[in-house]
Parts: sequence; structure tokens; C-alpha cells
Amino acid sequence: MLNQASIDALRHAAVPPQSHFIGGKRAPALDGGLLDVVSPIDGRVLTQIADGSAADVDAAVATARVAFEDGRWSRMAPAERKKVLMRLGDLIEAHALELAVLGVRDNGTEINMAFKAEALSAAGTFRYYGEAIDKVYGQIAPTADSILGLVHHAPVGVVGAIVPWNFPLMIGSWKVAPALAAGNSVVLKPGETASLTLLRIAELASEAGVPDGVFNVVTGRGATVGEALALHMDVDILAFTGSGATGRRLLEYSARSNLKRCYLELGGKSPNVVFADAPDLGQAAKVSAAGIFRNSGQVCVAGSRLLVQEDVAEAFVAELTRHAEAFTVGDPLDLGSQIGAVHSEAQLAANLDFVKTAEAEGAERRSGGERILAETGGTYMQPTIMAGVKETDTLFQKEVFGPILAVTPFKDEDEAVRLANGTAFGLAAGVWTANLSRAHRMIGRIRSGVVHVNTYGGPDLTVPLGGLKQSGNGHDKSLHALEKYTDLKTAWIQL
Ligand code: NAD
Repeated sequence: MLNQASIDALRHAAVPPQSHFIGGKRAPALDGGLLDVVSPIDGRVLTQIADGSAADVDAAVATARVAFEDGRWSRMAPAERKKVLMRLGDLIEAHALELAVLGVRDNGTEINMAFKAEALSAAGTFRYYGEAIDKVYGQIAPTADSILGLVHHAPVGVVGAIVPWNFPLMIGSWKVAPALAAGNSVVLKPGETASLTLLRIAELASEAGVPDGVFNVVTGRGATVGEALALHMDVDILAFTGSGATGRRLLEYSARSNLKRCYLELGGKSPNVVFADAPDLGQAAKVSAAGIFRNSGQVCVAGSRLLVQEDVAEAFVAELTRHAEAFTVGDPLDLGSQIGAVHSEAQLAANLDFVKTAEAEGAERRSGGERILAETGGTYMQPTIMAGVKETDTLFQKEVFGPILAVTPFKDEDEAVRLANGTAFGLAAGVWTANLSRAHRMIGRIRSGVVHVNTYGGPDLTVPLGGLKQSGNGHDKSLHALEKYTDLKTAWIQL
């Protein structure tokens, strides 16, 4: 398990400049471009990655297409693909510490979380879809005797996966593992500020036996690499996690190119609804604080709007503030840090702007709101609680993606539902109540992809994650994710 000495042994390891991974080997950008990678721990340049262009994307897609068509993976028996993916899971686990430390240096997530939610979770995801794939059956249709109607689940072809910087390994493997398990080839574009661990996973995949050309990684900017992948005529599906603004662009790119299917996992402004009859308000405050502040709030499902029943609002916010102020914010590679760095200077500046805007709109700052540890050169921010946030306020409506909680009181269940549903998003929600009937009513009435009851966070790979409304249209995780990466094909056979 994790110990500080083994983390420290890796924390300053040199990271050489990184090329793309195409056709089973490293490939520099065709035009030689490089992008600096700045570590949020200390603001220093950690290494460089290839600054890809459309030509690099063309090369990767062409390689992926050849690999798909010649059947080296797409027509391999599922039980054989399973063995490879299980080996990959084992290799990721064997390299979990190295991956976690590298990821933390790249994106600033606290090491405890990076180890479990990034490295170990990625290992589990490859194993899960590896284990599943030789248990997926087609169907025989209930036709007349003279006909045999068969329904096949066929791999789709070349999958373009575009992922963000907040949990690159976890989210990247949610796309890549089911796509590969189903027999597709993949071209993955990581967030430009969090590419290092996914490049390493591509190498480990090769070592595990994923044939050359089946899993490719092209790094670089969204507006070049991402756009080229999304506009590409030979990419069959886009699997995306990121912001709504980028999601909208992808739909346009699809319309302008080959009508590729787009699965979008987008942002949220998730309500965490605390009723006065919650079974344990102390526990609710503790879990709610973690539900917004871990990973500096850079979690898509973060419970960023606290809706709390008026009778208990003051006491609850006081308790939550106590928890917020007790978190240790600091170097994400220190095991004692419970909250690491904000991902970048740009993200930190945006967070601080949200605090100013909230105050200008009449909210009251109850805790935090400031940059801290600036002397380290890193980007750290205090957990922040803003009370008295109104439905029309920016902080109520816009996703921050930072450690800022908006608090809004409510009177009764109907008002709680109205406020919970009062944004364009529908990703996650929490409900705290001891009343079983109320819990079920709230599950039915809140429009979000997941509703937590008397807890917040933690759904594992066995259940789907996907947004409603403007939080997206696809699902990662669970066996349902396999449906995205297969086509239903019918055979209609005259006997
Ligand atoms: P982003 O949309 O800026 O970037 C996501 C990815 O898209 C990156 O790889 C980026 O390079 C690429 N991209 C940017 N512009 C592009 C373009 N024009 N064409 C193609 N690709 C482009 O998002 P981000 O800042 O990296 O991530 C934060 C967002 O992701 C938040 O909104 C967060 O809620 C969301 N998110 C959602 C989930 C989920 O499961 N629903 C999970 C994690 C993060």
C-alpha cells in the first residue's frame, strides 16, 4: 500500500519529453511541435508532450483503421481479447504507484485519491470489461419457421475518445476498456494538461498484448487534435467527457463530417438536498463536505449546490464549515494532504472570479475563498462556502469545477425539487432523509443521472454514470457502456 518513502522516491523522477503513441510505438508530432507540461504542485515545467496536429490524427486514424479491418483484434476471439485485457489490468496494478505519482505531478489530485480512483480503478476497469466480453450473446429473433433472424453485436470500427484532465486514467479507461473489449480500435486524445498517465497506459497495453495500431494516443490541444479527430471522416464514434461548450462543438463537427455517433459526458451543478429529518445530520455534513471539496471540487458529480431545509440550515452550515476548515490542503504528494492542488493557474483564477461574482450578487462568504500556499509556486485554494445563494445567481447556475459550495435554503419538499431541478444540468444529486417514501419520491422527481440517498459519491463500476438534460447523453461504466461501442446488426436468413 501507499507509504511516504516510496512516493518521495518517485516525486522528482525525470520525465522525458513525450511523443504520441501510434501503431504500437512512440511517434513525435509530424511538425515537431511540443507543449510544456506545468505541474500544479509547484508551477514548474515537468516535461513536454507532443503538440499534435491534424496530420498526426490522420496517421493515427489510418493506423487504427488498418488494424480494425485486418481483424488482428476485431476478429480475435473474445476469450482471447479477455486474456489481454486482464493482463493489462494486472500490469496497471503492478505500476499503480508509478502511475499515481506521475498523474499527481501532472494534474494535482491528492495521492490517496489518485492511487485508488485513478490507478487501481483503471486496473479494475480493464479487468471488468475483459471479464465481461466473452459473456455477451447475440439473439435469435422469434420469426416464422422459414426464416432465421439473428441479431449480432458488432464492433463499430474506429472510436475517437476525448477526455478531460480531472481524472484522466479513470475516465480514459471508462472509454478505452469497453471500446477495446468490444473489438474496436481506439484513438485517444487526453486533456492537454493531463496526458502522461494515458500515454503510459498505451505502452502497458502493448506490453499486455494489444496488437499494434489498436490503441493509439495523440496528444495536444483541443482546438487542433480534438477538432481533427471529431471532424475525421473515418472515425465512427466519438466518446467524450468534458465541458458542455466542447460537447456542443462535437455535435457540430459530427454534423459537418460523417454523422458519427457522439456520446457526451458533460458538466454538472449537482444539488445535495438535506432535509431536517436526515438520519444523522453530523454524518451528512461530513460526507457533504467531502462530496464537494475532494480533488479541489474538480469532480464532475461534485455536490456543488447544498440545498438545506430552513429549520436546520444554520446549524448544518456551521457543522459543514467546521469540516471544510479542518481539511489539510497542500502538496498532493504528501499522504497527509486531504486536498491537493487546483489544476492550473487559469482554473484557480476562474474559481476566484466566481467568489467575487457571488459576493457581488449578494452571497455571503462563510469560509475560504482565497488562494493559499502561493509561495510554493503551486495552485492551491481554500475550500469555500458561499451562503444565501439565490436561484438566479451565477453560482447557482454555472459549473465552477472548483472547491466552492453554494448554499441555498428551502422550505419544503416541493421547493427542494424545484430548486434541485432549477439548472440546465442533470448529472448527480444527493438526498438526505430518514423518510423512505420521501427518498423514493425525490429519486423520481429529481432529474439527474444518479441520485445518492443518505450518502454522496462512491457508485462503483457496476452502475452506469451519465447525465440527463445538458449534462450529456451517454453512459460510462457497467455493462451498458458496451452498448455504445457495438452496432446492432441483423441477419435475415431464408431457410
Ligand atoms: P474541456 O471540454 O475543456 O476539454 C475536454 C477535452 O476536450 C480535452 O481533451 C480538450 O482538449 C478537448 N477539447 C477542447 N476543445 C475541443 C474542440 N474544439 N474540439 C475537440 N476537442 C476539444 O473540459 P475540461 O476542462 O478538460 O474538463 C472539465 C469538464 O469536464 C467539466 O465541465 C466537467 O464537469 C466535465 N466532466 C464531466 C464528467 C462526466 O462524467 N460527466 C467527468 C469529468 C469531467
